[in-house]
Amino acid sequence: MNLVVVEPLKRRHCADCRRGPLPLHILEYNAPRCLDCADLGHLVLLPRGNAALTRRAREASSLWAVVVRYHKRRKRYERQGLLVEEAALARAESACLADAEARARRRDRDAARRAAEDLTFTASFTVAILALFPSCPPDRAHAVAAHTSQRGSGRVGRSAAGRTLDESAVTAAVRASVRHVDTPYDALLMAGVPRQEARGRVGAAIEGVLAGWRENPSASDRAR
Ligand SMILES: [Zn+2]
Repeated sequence: MNLVVVEPLKRRHCADCRRGPLPLHILEYNAPRCLDCADLGHLVLLPRGNAALTRRAREASSLWAVVVRYHKRRKRYERQGLLVEEAALARAESACLADAEARARRRDRDAARRAAEDLTFTASFTVAILALFPSCPPDRAHAVAAHTSQRGSGRVGRSAAGRTLDESAVTAAVRASVRHVDTPYDALLMAGVPRQEARGRVGAAIEGVLAGWRENPSASDRAR
């Protein structure tokens, strides 16, 4: 059985000390008593709304009471909060604060790890691109790698194939970049050209760029 304290709708005075009107009272043998007379005067009100804080404060409080108010239209008493010991509420607040801080720290750690993973992945993807396409400008290779390694994008760079940095995955990422950057593909799409047709129109241009990037820079130097 919970101790129930009432937030009265009408003006009530304490049956013992006659003080009033009372903001809160407890009914004993149908007579309202103030919290001081009912030995609850040392408790503090914790309004409802924070479930974790409420649970912790209740568990830490050796004495506590439920505060209710009668809702006329709904014809029922509704919980307004708890009366708990002030020290218990303070402990509960510290615990909840520690939780929030722990969660924040964990979020920071996770974000740092994700960032590190992305940077590592981007770096190795860049290396893989330059191994396959030695004449690709390094900053371009890095841009392709960074683009494809973006978390949650579902692009080739985050797929299982991209993770293993196999040749087809790396080539697909570079080809997609060339398609968008070095050909009029995007403009064709904007002009309403169907996607497959646009791809067909720029295919030769893409392969030309890729062929040039596959050449070893020193070999092309010797050819000059
Ligand atoms: Zn009283």
